Amino acid sequence: MKETELRALVGRVQEQVALLASTAPSAAPSENDKRELTRRWDQLVQHLALGPAPDTRVCPSCSHTIMRAATLCGYCWMKLPEGGRHA
Ligand SMILES: [Zn+2]
Repeated sequence: MKETELRALVGRVQEQVALLASTAPSAAPSENDKRELTRRWDQLVQHLALGPAPDTRVCPSCSHTIMRAATLCGYCWMKLPEGGRHA
């Protein structure tokens, strides 16, 4: 991922948010401006390509969210059975 491209995309979202935020309270933002914000946001999200959320589970001892593959809880240090079931 190119950081300059990411910054440019964030900048374009920011511009559009600022434009919508500066609309007078009495005047609703135009459909075009709202669509443009959605479009720019989608471009940014696509660029980030975050993929699915990391595989996590809940610690049976302290209930913090931890990685499924963890063998020790990072919060309470309880030893965990390998590959816990889905929470
Ligand atoms: Zn824990």
